[in-house]
Amino acid sequence: MNAADSESLARRLLAAGYQEDSLERADVAILNTCVVRQASEDRVYSRLHELKAWKTPERTIAVTGCIVAKEGEGLLRRFPHVDSVLPIGEYEDFVAGLAARYDYSEGEALPPAGRTGVSHYVRVIQGCDHNCTFCIVPRVRGRERHVPVTDVLEECRIAVDAGAREIVLLGQNVDDYHDPGGNGGLAALVRAVEKIPGLRRLRFMTSHPQDLEPELLETMAASDVVCRELQLPVQSGDDGILKRMARGYQTRHYRAIVERARTLMPDLGVVTDVIVGFPGETEAAFLNTRALLEEIEFDVVHLAMYSPRPGTFAATRMTDDIPAAEKLRRLNDLLALQREIATRKTARWVGRDVEVLIEGSDELGRPFGRIRQGKRAVVLRGSGVAPGDVINLRVVSATAGQLTGLPAA
Ligand code: SF4
Repeated sequence: MNAADSESLARRLLAAGYQEDSLERADVAILNTCVVRQASEDRVYSRLHELKAWKTPERTIAVTGCIVAKEGEGLLRRFPHVDSVLPIGEYEDFVAGLAARYDYSEGEALPPAGRTGVSHYVRVIQGCDHNCTFCIVPRVRGRERHVPVTDVLEECRIAVDAGAREIVLLGQNVDDYHDPGGNGGLAALVRAVEKIPGLRRLRFMTSHPQDLEPELLETMAASDVVCRELQLPVQSGDDGILKRMARGYQTRHYRAIVERARTLMPDLGVVTDVIVGFPGETEAAFLNTRALLEEIEFDVVHLAMYSPRPGTFAATRMTDDIPAAEKLRRLNDLLALQREIATRKTARWVGRDVEVLIEGSDELGRPFGRIRQGKRAVVLRGSGVAPGDVINLRVVSATAGQLTGLPAA
């Protein structure tokens, strides 16, 4: 979501005649911030402190993203070297204001997706109507606003015309999408977007187990364009903890979704999020999460230690009772378990041919991209392969996070 916001702001600045440059040479530095965890927020403050040495009267520092919603103008008092705080998406006045400070030549009028790469992110929902007790997103991103299907389609078409081969539909809870004009939900939107000529791949994220409709899984299974990847956070494998998190489902419901999805799409990649050390997470509750990871064998698990976020129900009404060292032990335990599961699962790709959409080159100059199930793949001896190409790769080796192979005949 933040990457999409950064792109949107960058496109406006480029269209106004500005250029990207190194921090040393730049006149303007803009921090797009995340506060979903305490560690992310701490990183923002640390960067702002670092920028104090960079700041001169001629230079401008602006801050946008979720920290603006959380801290507001208070940031300007706490960090007097910051010139502007920009609410998410409200960039026009800022860009216009820069023109009064700096000489610039009018840039070419770039199309809205003129900077698009191989993948283009399209926000279809802003905000979230859930109230998970640990989550600060509803506070900083507000309630859901749904983008009309016609606007989504227009942005997708422009991006594909500009060279995008993959569209990623974004929402904090993308399954809750519905067209404000009454033209259906996410499954209908997916069926409309996948028909755009020239589009090779379509993804969406992030799903919510309470809102995911069976129709969406059937739409995925019937499509050659929609990727075989489901981003479905479970957060905990313990029903008591899920209740305290106010997630709105139990583990048997989650299992049923994954089972149905894998029946329809046996090669589906399933990605999840898990929080360890949530208030009240006993050893037994933790072991339930561990058992769920062993049972489902996720392709990727994004693991985080619980950190109280100000203003959330969990922070104000629950005691953060799991010591930091114990949270870390649980985190490391699940990291090791998941590494072993992912290594075992990716080994199954060795010897098979997979379709890779090339995104760029790695630090060794080897083309890389992703397979339809979401796994990263690197092409050995990939001369003549360019970003945007779709190639068949014969997988010769695999690690937990990556496949490596040669172009297949
Ligand atoms: S559904 Fe996701 S974004 Fe919404 S409150 Fe829950 S965790 Fe936060």
